[in-house]
Amino acid sequence: MADTTGSTDINRRCARCGEAVSRRFVRVFGASNRVYGCLDCLTRQRLSNGDAARPDDADAIGSGWK
Ligand SMILES: [Zn+2]
Repeated sequence: MADTTGSTDINRRCARCGEAVSRRFVRVFGASNRVYGCLDCLTRQRLSNGDAARPDDADAIGSGWK
């Protein structure tokens, strides 16, 4: 298979655990083409809370805040 795009898929990995995620997943749950969580390291509830769009350090502030 020829790789004509020249771009890698590093952005399509979970920034938290490194698991590969789909482009659609990044679009839906991520921010700026990155996701900070995936189904492997976050619960569905946290995903719907938008946790995957926030870097790790938002954890302390984010919990309990809605
Ligand atoms: Zn993950």
